[in-house]
Amino acid sequence: MRLESRGASRSGRPPGGVTMPIFESRKARAKEVKIAEWKQSSANVLATLKIPHDAIAKLERELEGTLAVPGDAAYKADEKNWNPAFPEKPALIAFCQVALDVRHCLEFANTWSLQFVCRSGGHSTAGFCLATGALVVDVSQINDVHIDAGARRATVGAGTSFGKLNHVLDLYGLHVPGGGCPEVCVGGYMQGGGYGFTSRMFGINCDNVLQVDVMLADGTIVTANAAQNQDLFWAVRGGTGNNFGVLLTVTYQLYPLGDIWAFGVSWPIDNAPEGLHYLQQHYMKSNWSRLLGYQGVLGVDKGAQKLLARGMVRGDAQAGRAEIAGMLGDGGGTLELEGIGSYLHWNIALLDNIPDIPGPPKGEVLKENKFSTYIGRVLEVSEWRRVVDYFNTASNPACTVGMEIYGGAINTYPAMGNAFVHRDVYMDFFVDTFWYTQAQEGPARAWLKGFRELMETYWNGHSYQNYPRRDDPNYRWQFWAEAFNSLLFVKQKYDPTNFFTFPQAVSPIPPDAPRGVQRATAPSMFSDPVIVYR
Ligand SMILES: Cc1cc2nc3c(=O)[nH]c(=O)nc-3n(C[C@H](O)[C@H](O)[C@H](O)COP(=O)(O)OP(=O)(O)OC[C@H]3O[C@@H](n4cnc5c(N)ncnc54)[C@H](O)[C@@H]3O)c2cc1C
Repeated sequence: MRLESRGASRSGRPPGGVTMPIFESRKARAKEVKIAEWKQSSANVLATLKIPHDAIAKLERELEGTLAVPGDAAYKADEKNWNPAFPEKPALIAFCQVALDVRHCLEFANTWSLQFVCRSGGHSTAGFCLATGALVVDVSQINDVHIDAGARRATVGAGTSFGKLNHVLDLYGLHVPGGGCPEVCVGGYMQGGGYGFTSRMFGINCDNVLQVDVMLADGTIVTANAAQNQDLFWAVRGGTGNNFGVLLTVTYQLYPLGDIWAFGVSWPIDNAPEGLHYLQQHYMKSNWSRLLGYQGVLGVDKGAQKLLARGMVRGDAQAGRAEIAGMLGDGGGTLELEGIGSYLHWNIALLDNIPDIPGPPKGEVLKENKFSTYIGRVLEVSEWRRVVDYFNTASNPACTVGMEIYGGAINTYPAMGNAFVHRDVYMDFFVDTFWYTQAQEGPARAWLKGFRELMETYWNGHSYQNYPRRDDPNYRWQFWAEAFNSLLFVKQKYDPTNFFTFPQAVSPIPPDAPRGVQRATAPSMFSDPVIVYR
């Protein structure tokens, strides 16, 4: 027996007169209405895609999740990148809810020769989670979190946001290092490394991964861990997303973490060079403690430019003050903020509203550009002064320098233990510039370019792959150095048809690469061509 669906037309039938089986769900009915609407309202758009309506309808019916096509409200709401500086127009966006949805999307992209772009949290700073003409496969609803408190393990969907994960973990008093933004998801963050306040204590996020499940381009799922598919296990931890397959789940090692002591230390901008030199000597690679994690900022706080150190100590106020006594004594900093509480609270509160970004003019949205450089030596005070002086020329008050402080557990992890290779450094020094209007864009970009040129004097030649820039042909060397050939082996083994690709994919250096593009000379650590399937 079939019933007419509750359509929108006067005849009581949806456009196209679709009938529905009696046991079909409301979800299926809504899909049929949408499919019928596509035939009419989006006809031109679908024709441009050169994909027949029937094929798109079939995919929509197959998915437990849903599709959005250009013209849909869901598409309009979603095509926007987190950073609107990179506008893209995907052909279709698929919101997957289960792994089978991803498999259907892989088949569809293969059949219709569409570029396939995974997206978890959509926070790629270079906009790599969207591409014009692509099928964007959004896995943000594949976000189950399962905690095994006894074993101190969490198995999470790749679309799990750190806001959700931290809320779940807080209940158990357990922890894995995560970033500052609650909307960033495991899928992109972990595959690029993943730095946070507690990384000096417990390592980079990807150092704490025990196992991953990845769907390859042919729809098969492989499990990778220290005993099986070790090469893939090595590569997904730092090798960046959209390279090997679709990351479905990640299993983390967790750590007990009770209340922490949070602090903020500041220096007037004029004293920032001395402060930075002191911090480098005493609070980064040397004299490190696994109790302390912190980040540095050059930015505007409460109307004044400052150097800020914001961080947390595992312990009470007494232990905390003891940890940072040097910063306040010989280091010359002033304690301006302290408190006891959960990581969940302080991870957000510590950097909230820094910098003071002014609100948008009517109709404008904030756009951002940035670069990252690793600092591999202690800079002299005079060198830091040049850096701070340049910072002071910022074209608008929203421009910021962020310093992700390394040392501790990050640097003691084996250099080639995974594809995140930045282990012998003091900090990731990154610069953000923001703008609202077109008039502000030119000066903001010019300032960033000048800053980058200055930092090329001081950096170690590498940069953090979670803060990519589109215009960097030397990204292979900057992100992976001598690990690149190992990564390329893994890429070609697990994705032999180069199905997963984007502008900074793991790929051979092209013959026409510009001069200055550096080549890794170390051969691949891996050579076994066999993939183990479960
Ligand atoms: C506001 C903000 C704050 C940030 N804070 C921090 C921080 O504190 N520490 C830090 O280390 N980084 C930080 N980052 C950088 C962040 O880690 C990266 O941008 C990260 O890639 C974002 O993860 P995502 O899930 O949002 O990725 P997306 O933008 O969805 O994707 C990033 C890349 O990974 C691919 N990808 C995504 N999901 C999958 C998947 N399931 N399978 C295969 N490939 C996939 C995408 O195709 C894309 O190439 C921040 C970024 C922003 C915008």
